[in-house]
Formats: sequence, C-alpha cells, structure tokens
Amino acid sequence: MLNIVLFGPPGAGKGTQAEKLISKYNLVHLSTGDIFRSNIKGETDLGKLAKSYMDKGELVPDSVTIQMLEKEVEANQSANGFIFDGFPRTTNQAVALDEFLESIPTEVSLMLALEVPKKELIDRLLLRGKESNRVDDQDESIIENRIRVYLEQTAIVAKHYQSQGKHQSVDGQGSINEITERLFQVIDQQ
Ligand code: AMP
Repeated sequence: MLNIVLFGPPGAGKGTQAEKLISKYNLVHLSTGDIFRSNIKGETDLGKLAKSYMDKGELVPDSVTIQMLEKEVEANQSANGFIFDGFPRTTNQAVALDEFLESIPTEVSLMLALEVPKKELIDRLLLRGKESNRVDDQDESIIENRIRVYLEQTAIVAKHYQSQGKHQSVDGQGSINEITERLFQVIDQQ
C-alpha cells in the first residue's frame, strides 16, 4: 500500500493537492476536516461536537478524531492506499495511526510537508472564505488561532516522521501544477 500523510498548516493546499494525488496513484482520500464538515451538515452528534471546536479554530479531541479516522480506514480495506489530509495533527494521533496501520498490517509510506509562509496562508484562507461558506475561513482571528494551534500542537508531528526517515519537505508556493509536479517527483523517487 502507498499511504501518504499530506502535512502542512491551514491553507497550505493539502486538499487541492490530495485530489491530484488520489487520481494519479489511485488512493482513497481521507480528510478529517471534510468528514467533520459532512457530519456538521448531517447534524449528527459528532458534527455538533466537532463544530464547537472548529468554529473557534481549536482541535477536536484526539479520542473522537482517532476513532473516526480508524472507522474510515476500516470501511476502505480494499484500497490501494490512503492520503491522510489534516491527520495526524498531534503526536498522539501520529502514534495511534502507526499502531492502527500496523494492525492491518501496513504503515505510513511517507509524509509530504507543504511549506508556505504565514502571510500567504492568511491571504489564501481569506480568499477561500470569500469563495466558500467555511465559517473558519471568514474571520481573521479564527485563522490566526488555527495557525497558532498548528505551530503549538501540530508542527511537532513532523519530528515523529523525521525520526522514522519518512519526512519530506516540499515547497508549497507557485502554481497548483508546479506544486503537484514536485509532489509526484518525491513520491516517484520512493
Ligand atoms: P481542515 O479542513 O483540515 O482545515 O480542518 C478544519 C478543522 O477541523 C480544524 O481547524 C479542526 O478544528 C478540525 N480538525 C480537522 N482535522 C483534525 C484533526 N486531525 N484533529 C483535530 N481536529 C481536526
């Protein structure tokens, strides 16, 4: 299996690039943010719980998020592999993912970390907020909080994969196609 963790701060382009990767490598895209949003739309209990955190730009608790992600992987057992987009966001989640994948048995093949400067992240998110109805993209203080949460709780997850020799940084600036080509190159070199 080819299992890719697509990593980076909010606005780095993970969702956009995940779409390109799933079609080239025939992978299943698991975005925890998308799964939470579809639960909010369906007004499920999980959606109600997630919304109370997402509206503030905080992380949904690990226990809830990990359980939800594992259920999605189990529901796609015949997949060629997965793109994990927006997960793991804490070291606890990364450890849980390793243990869970080992039980299948498989493992994370590599982590691709999109690098984008903060100013550009904020500009991209505000633009997406105008073009979509994502509440968390429409308010600059929520965006700032998401970036702060990323720096305080999520950035450290890169170290987890660095210590396993699986971390690859990719320049996330430029045109969508340029960035996609960079990602393809790193994956194809594996
Ligand atoms: P995203 O669509 O990845 O930008 O995620 C939107 C929001 O969903 C985040 O700001 C968090 O509130 C929540 N979320 C998504 N993925 C996770 C995760 N792995 N752990 C905790 N919260 C998450």
